[in-house]
Amino acid sequence: DDLEEPSDDEFELGDDPLDGLILPVLAVVGRPNVGKSTLVNRILGRREAVVEDVPGVTRDRVAYDASWSGRQFTLVDTGGWERDVTGLAARVAEQAELAVAAADAVLLVVDATVGATDTEDAVVRVLRRAGKPVVLAANKVDDQKAESDALALWNLGLGEPYPVSALHGRGSGDLLDAIIAVLPQPRPAEAVPQGPRRVALVGRPNVGKSSLLNALAGEDRVVVDPTAGTTRDPVDELVELGGRDWRFVDTAGIRRRVHLQQGADYYASLRTKTAVDKAEVAVLLLDASEPLAEQDIRIASMVSESGRALVLAFNKWDLLDEERHEILEREIDRDLAMVRWAPRVNISAMTKRHLDKLVPALDTALEGWETRVPTARLNSFLGQLVSATPPPVRGGKQPKILFATQAGAAPPRFVLFTSGFLEAGYRRFIERRLREEFGFAGSPISISVRVRE
Ligand code: GDP
Ligand code: GDP
Repeated sequence: DDLEEPSDDEFELGDDPLDGLILPVLAVVGRPNVGKSTLVNRILGRREAVVEDVPGVTRDRVAYDASWSGRQFTLVDTGGWERDVTGLAARVAEQAELAVAAADAVLLVVDATVGATDTEDAVVRVLRRAGKPVVLAANKVDDQKAESDALALWNLGLGEPYPVSALHGRGSGDLLDAIIAVLPQPRPAEAVPQGPRRVALVGRPNVGKSSLLNALAGEDRVVVDPTAGTTRDPVDELVELGGRDWRFVDTAGIRRRVHLQQGADYYASLRTKTAVDKAEVAVLLLDASEPLAEQDIRIASMVSESGRALVLAFNKWDLLDEERHEILEREIDRDLAMVRWAPRVNISAMTKRHLDKLVPALDTALEGWETRVPTARLNSFLGQLVSATPPPVRGGKQPKILFATQAGAAPPRFVLFTSGFLEAGYRRFIERRLREEFGFAGSPISISVRVRE
């Protein structure tokens, strides 16, 4: 056994010293029974329980955090959550295809005592096309005299076969060295932009945008141009809130009172769109004292679709009575359901009620927006979810979710690799559960599905 025992100070799930880094992903591919699970256990140092040899028991995890020689990576078992993948060559090739789509490198496991079969040939074709690095493990080489079995696998054209015994640990150190050599370094999650956060203050005319900006920034900062033609309208304004600077983008359009009768709405929504596109987070200001308007709902949808973080601010709270309050809550439930996830503040720009709640809400929204879920955690969660509530059968077929990855953050974007079409209802169910588990408060999230028919 040439694997080191994991030491106490070694990395543990949920206590990641490399937090904020995206670990490279290694996908393990191979026919059933070649020893993939045994090898995965071996690589993990048996720290992770993988249910095996219990017929009918569904494994609830497909991805694990692993490390070797101080290098961390995510190990993906492409068998998915299915236990009984029985003798389907096409199926294995399909899994290889999924694996290469989502992984940085592939570990192909072959049973050296059996040698390469048609299945391996099919998999090799897939791997060649993908052009991702492949490490070839010739498993079940339990002793010296079985080494010649491994040599026969040069024929696959994938380079050197690494003879290993997943069962006894033989050769696993050299195999891991080869894996580490082809895996890229962990990548930093999208860099948080330096400098003040960019905020778009949006809302239909008369909800109180300029009043709020004045209340936050101080009246003396109102943009006045004493000598026309010498000063340009400043586009952005730096406002100090909660001891930090925030960049309110496109405030000129708020400050300058445009009294256009015709076309005011058009210019207002154009300004809104450009401001939101420039911002990281939008504060949608609404007039709590009046019924929600079509335009409020349109702006909320626009922010959500633009992929920016969102805070809902209900202004003119000083004008609310009990009755209006009750009606408002019903309107919010009905008309703003698509941004249910946005944190909310109830404020008054006039009395300055709860203006101090704005910064915590902005922080919450930006944090949700930039959340990154480690691959292993995401898949462990989805595995449990899918085995408890499988996707509905469609056309007599049960679609399987094989693997998921977070393709990006700000806003969080997820890709599910599946064996069949997932209905919109089920995708919404997954989104709801992802939000319950990981938060994402204040941020839209997107879930796309890549189907292997
Ligand atoms: P999987 O279906 O590819 O995940 O394969 P498993 O890990 O479940 O292994 C299939 C069978 O092969 C099990 O009975 C293992 O004990 C056995 N096996 C796995 N690795 C080795 C090995 O290195 N040597 C020997 N002799 N048997 C092994
Ligand atoms: P904008 O068009 O969104 O920039 O809105 P303004 O800031 O010009 O405000 C429109 C009207 O609402 C003005 O008459 C403000 O005095 C009034 N207003 C703004 N905020 C409040 C508030 O919190 N309470 C009350 N009662 N009136 C407000």
